[in-house]
Amino acid sequence: MRIVFLGPPGAGKGTQAETLSKEKKLPHISSGNLLRESVENDTETGKKAQQHINKGQLVPDQIVVDIIRERILKNDCKNGFILDGFPRTLSQAIVLDGMLKDLGNKIDIVFYFAISKESIVLRLSGRRICAICGANYHVKYVPSLKDGICDKCGGKLYQRTDDKLETVLERIKVYHEQTEDLINYYKKNGILKEIESESNVESITENILKVIDNASKSASFVNLGVV
Ligand code: AMP
Repeated sequence: MRIVFLGPPGAGKGTQAETLSKEKKLPHISSGNLLRESVENDTETGKKAQQHINKGQLVPDQIVVDIIRERILKNDCKNGFILDGFPRTLSQAIVLDGMLKDLGNKIDIVFYFAISKESIVLRLSGRRICAICGANYHVKYVPSLKDGICDKCGGKLYQRTDDKLETVLERIKVYHEQTEDLINYYKKNGILKEIESESNVESITENILKVIDNASKSASFVNLGVV
């Protein structure tokens, strides 16, 4: 199954994608993580991407599209994947559809994570990440036992440069300008499922799994010629 997670930064897409990836044995492909990796590895792509990321703006389509194409052509994506943070613009969605059509595939479900601006600001400005194992914390909601230190591996916790308040506000603005067109695009295609994302992590996971299981059931009926 090919799944897209769509929604503003801080809506919990990454957390849910990690859980779903384990549950359904599908690779979790985060465009943000792939871009940050290329920045850390100091590649040409990373150098070009970094300036946009630090300002909270979108990286040019061509850079992101190339990274995603390379990733979804890998063997582990043959039976599906979870795309998190890509596509983010209508043009990226159209390119993605073309890429998948060439492979004889299509996106099956797009989950739209609905959340208020106030919650996004609260979540992102308090988010902290372990520099060693990548575990996520929140200064108020999921604090580490020892201030600034990861419970799991003892690594130092840091704040992503683009999680600083000023950049968070820019990311939300960019999201509204660029990404909302996508909601209408996928709605028209009949594959958009809205997920209320203010509630707790477990109930959101449960809702996502229900939608996927229902979609798998109706897909097998179609295959059997029942509908
Ligand atoms: P994220 O981790 O998804 O919040 O992404 C962090 C940053 O990476 C974004 O603010 C953008 O600068 C960049 N980025 C991630 N995905 C995309 C995308 N699909 N298109 C353009 N820029 C992206």
